[in-house]
Amino acid sequence: METTATHTIDGKPVDGVEFFDVINPATASVFARAPDASRAQLDLAVRAARRAFESWRAVPAEERRKILFGFASAIRAQQQGLAQLLTREQGKPLAAAIREIDGTAARIEGLAKFELTPETLRSDERGRVVLDYQPLGVVGAIAPWNSPLLLGVQVAAQALVAGNSVILKPSPFTPLATLKLGEIAGKTLPRGLFNTLSGGNELGRWMTEHEGIDKIGFVGSVATGKKVLASAAASNLKRVSLELGGNDAAIVLADADVDAIAPQLFWSAFVNSGQRCMAVKRVLVHESLLDRLGAALSRLANQVKVGDGLEPGVELGPIQNRPQFERVLGLIEDAVRRGGRALAGGAALDRPGYFIAPTVITGVAEGTPLVDEEQFGPVLPLLAFSDVDAAVSRANATRFGLGASVWSANPQRAADIARRLEAGTVWINSHGGSVPEIPFGGFKESGVGRGLGLMGIKSYAEVRVLHLPL
Ligand code: NAD
Repeated sequence: METTATHTIDGKPVDGVEFFDVINPATASVFARAPDASRAQLDLAVRAARRAFESWRAVPAEERRKILFGFASAIRAQQQGLAQLLTREQGKPLAAAIREIDGTAARIEGLAKFELTPETLRSDERGRVVLDYQPLGVVGAIAPWNSPLLLGVQVAAQALVAGNSVILKPSPFTPLATLKLGEIAGKTLPRGLFNTLSGGNELGRWMTEHEGIDKIGFVGSVATGKKVLASAAASNLKRVSLELGGNDAAIVLADADVDAIAPQLFWSAFVNSGQRCMAVKRVLVHESLLDRLGAALSRLANQVKVGDGLEPGVELGPIQNRPQFERVLGLIEDAVRRGGRALAGGAALDRPGYFIAPTVITGVAEGTPLVDEEQFGPVLPLLAFSDVDAAVSRANATRFGLGASVWSANPQRAADIARRLEAGTVWINSHGGSVPEIPFGGFKESGVGRGLGLMGIKSYAEVRVLHLPL
């Protein structure tokens, strides 16, 4: 075993008492061990974070910004090592891992530019009413396995900018790059401000129950998000932000230029092998374009280079873990059993690792799990429509509401349709992507609250209203 990582608690590396295996999804073999945090280690981290919070809350915004920019530079300085580790544990191509590290540093910098300043609500002969933002205390960040660094740090950075301290728990499937980042935090941030602990799902539950944690910033599935909310309510009514799954529809209107949009639509669905919250997960295409779009997307699916993310030129990696690999294959098999036709792909690759050929499916409809659920894998169903109003209703007929898009040669018409879609973000002639400055989140079961932007940072603070005398 070559890699044994450590937690970072109170600025120092802390060994595990127990360990668990980390698997490289490109080979399906164990390549490292990660420490499995005990409850006592969580308690230590909470106490360290509480101490750090008491000092950090008093640090002026300008000084905080400088410190956070230093953290971002230190991450960039370790980009190559972090990216190698990320590819080996997550599976994404090395170029994508490098982009994730860069995006992680950019998230910190972009968020650190914001500052929560007091707002005067009233000022007249009765006196002044001022609203100010107070940090909450200790924030627990819980991250998923698809983009572990970017998403974990996104929560952490919002919390830190608002004046809180952080305990970050990565997914047990992808703990290593985050633990490495914890080491960097231990060396560049004030002691105890940013702690990292790895462990199983139990550790996540202990965090949501912990009376010493004031807020959970959670990124993951709807099912787990509901457990987080219930557990947070049952303990100390800790604040919760939930960034959950999606089943994003792309509506392709009859006037769309198929050849022009196909590559972008393809990558909006298949990036990170479809393991992205805001990937296109179903395409509603006007019936007149179904065959041409199906052919264009299948060509791309057949051309794309799938393989071990460490091999040069690979564009799509494996599914990150065995349960998800089996789930996605099950969705494909079920869709085919119900009359679906795979225009491209349709099966696992005949090689070690959790690889599925990029798959495009037609002949399926609502009522099929591949269409109704979040597949979170490299398989895209194409559904034909004849009437735009019906397409809008079908796009909205879901418990999810993360993203959606409209594709058309007429941007004005597309914008009118976009305004009818029930989703936290709606794009026109593109789909996906988020930046630190712009809020992101979901309608309905895709989440609670909004992350990113000033709005995201405010959700890591309490609002205090002061009635001041004249
Ligand atoms: P998951 O819900 O299985 O796990 C997420 C995290 O929760 C992990 O760290 C896990 O250990 C932890 N966890 C598990 N049980 C817990 C419990 N009872 N209490 C507290 N924590 C617990 O999700 P996943 O499979 O890792 O990630 C995929 C999902 O994440 C997809 O649905 C995807 O759409 C979603 N996602 C959403 C966004 C967004 O911004 N909206 C971004 C990325 C991923």
